[in-house]
Amino acid sequence: MELIDIGCNLGHESFDVDREEVIARARNAGVVQMIVTGASEHGSIAALDIARASPDTLYATAGVHPHLASEFNDETDSVIRELCAQPEVVAVGEAGLDYFRDFSPRDHQRHAFERQLQIAVDNGLPLFLHQRDAHADFMAILRQFRPRLNEVVVHCFTGTQAEMHECLELDCHIGITGWICDERRGTHMQAWMGDIPADRLMIESDAPYLKPRNLRPKVKSHRNEPCWLPWIANTLAACRGENPECLAQQTTANARRFFRLQDPEQSKVSAICAAS
Ligand SMILES: [Zn+2]
Repeated sequence: MELIDIGCNLGHESFDVDREEVIARARNAGVVQMIVTGASEHGSIAALDIARASPDTLYATAGVHPHLASEFNDETDSVIRELCAQPEVVAVGEAGLDYFRDFSPRDHQRHAFERQLQIAVDNGLPLFLHQRDAHADFMAILRQFRPRLNEVVVHCFTGTQAEMHECLELDCHIGITGWICDERRGTHMQAWMGDIPADRLMIESDAPYLKPRNLRPKVKSHRNEPCWLPWIANTLAACRGENPECLAQQTTANARRFFRLQDPEQSKVSAICAAS
């Protein structure tokens, strides 16, 4: 099984001691490429550095999470634009609205969200978006920008079935995490995972967060890792009544198309061809 993790926070401090091993474990588990989420100005620079250390395997996004929207200013705007000009940065984000935690005032969140949507309009990159408990405002803002945007993924989708259909109608992709493996809050989604068209579906660990709660054998650490993405893929395939191998192939193809990633096997071939 060959998988792509479209959202992992490998810059998180919990990975500082063993980042290389975490990446190696993921690769051994069939996670062939990973997109390192940038969630702040500083974190996006760090995500790019991490991606650069593993060419063709790791890529990065550049953006400011709604939790940190209050720190978004003109300088942030130009730093994000500069990062997006680097070949390893494959999307704008993580950006969006989070009214669950409200760590930044909501008007600041909307402002930072709109500015990052404008960055994506200007550079044509796909968008990696976060929404929690803010569906109506999120959709209202996204709808205004949608005709001028390229591809959009609503990452770590945790909303209702109706909200998911509204996202799909706006031609968004849906990112699914280990949230669906959480019997306390995520299993309500399992019944309608089959509603997501095959070409709109991608998967992600959101590591170090959201370790799949049904993971067996049980792992002591609370930290999630990309190496457990196959577990999420298997759970999701069961929800959709699909063969896990098919789901893997489809979501991997979707991620490569969405983020315009090189197939590492393909780039080996092109390197050989260029040399001959
Ligand atoms: Zn998020």
